[in-house]
Amino acid sequence: MTMKRNIGDLAIFGGSSAFLQTLFVGRPNVGDRARFFDRVNWALDHQWLTNGGPLAREFEQRVAELAGVRYCVSTCNATTALQLLARAADLSGEIIMPSLTFPATAHAFRWLGLTPVFCDIDPTTGCMDPALVEAAITPRTSAIVPVHLWGRPCAVDQFAKVAAAHDVKLFYDAAHGLGCTSGGLPIGGFGQAEVFSFHATKVVNSFEGGAVVTDDEELAKRIRAIHNFGFAQGRVSTEAGINGKMTEAAAAMGLTSLDAFEETVCQNKANYDSYQSELAGLAGLKIVDFNPAERNNYHYLIVEIDAAVTGVHRDLLDDVLKSEKVMCQRYFSPGCHEMEPYRSEQPVTLPHTEQLAQKVLALPTGPTVSREDIRRVCDIVRFTLERGHEVTHRVNERVESMVTP
Ligand SMILES: *Cc1c(COP(=O)(O)O)cnc(C)c1O
Repeated sequence: MTMKRNIGDLAIFGGSSAFLQTLFVGRPNVGDRARFFDRVNWALDHQWLTNGGPLAREFEQRVAELAGVRYCVSTCNATTALQLLARAADLSGEIIMPSLTFPATAHAFRWLGLTPVFCDIDPTTGCMDPALVEAAITPRTSAIVPVHLWGRPCAVDQFAKVAAAHDVKLFYDAAHGLGCTSGGLPIGGFGQAEVFSFHATKVVNSFEGGAVVTDDEELAKRIRAIHNFGFAQGRVSTEAGINGKMTEAAAAMGLTSLDAFEETVCQNKANYDSYQSELAGLAGLKIVDFNPAERNNYHYLIVEIDAAVTGVHRDLLDDVLKSEKVMCQRYFSPGCHEMEPYRSEQPVTLPHTEQLAQKVLALPTGPTVSREDIRRVCDIVRFTLERGHEVTHRVNERVESMVTP
């Protein structure tokens, strides 16, 4: 790349981009392609493409093992998995959840006629604050659904106490949490059940996919039935179900991606260490860190940009990086409560969520991102933040010259 010497060298001001090939957040972790095709060929040879085939069953066993639980039901995606859980647990009324999450957490329940109640976070962790959750419980509350944001475990012990004290269900959206631990125990075994996502952008992918994991045999049985039209045994339905099954092709991808899991995590960890050392001591930037005493998947590399210190808002840094061909993601901004339909229908102010959502940016990581890529990304970030006021001023000037002829 061409070194940035003065701010005119930034691509946003007409300089040449730092990257020829675009860098992305959330490239799929595919694993050994030949192994994937072997599995798909096996399914085709045996003409067994779905309906709880051997690949889906093997995938469920391996996910259950990783999550340290007895039961796993694979699904077509995590949104459906959350809905199956809501139905199987007969949830009603209000569900307390964070706003700082992917909108699917809220939409899944809302689509069933349940009411998401958004609760603020503990600004130091980004996860829901158990004390605020307790204060939000009403007679209509039937469940608490915390999210292990970015793969960092929630305050699981405190949530367990709150849920027990108020006799409400506790389910986790563990879409980011595969292979992580809390107090040395795997995510997957907390609350009455947890839900994983295997969407293409997640640490393990099955193109699209999800799973409910639990130690509750009855709950697992009911979910298995309703994810297959309500067929508990044979082809007679015992209740109104839906089609939420994972296909064999998806399971083939899931298994292949799982085969690569240890290696993926290893490379994510190396990337995390590189970002830490490249960005060390940069004022107004904080990397969301992981507790080294736990197992982490290091799948999300999140930085918090403090505009008051750097002079550059997260949105502008995102734009600067985009023009250099570094495509970041604003995970998760804005919070769900600032999006429709919630924003119009149930307006609420969540100061900590709103503050953090203004600051966070996911930078590219994963096995396809090299040490050299990270060095270049960090050079741009450092260059921009160290000249923050100047960069912001120049962008504003340009905007003004466009509106005043
Ligand atoms: C990805 C994601 C989901 C939705 O998962 P799908 O498998 O795409 O339905 C739900 N919650 C969170 C926190 C997610 O990141």
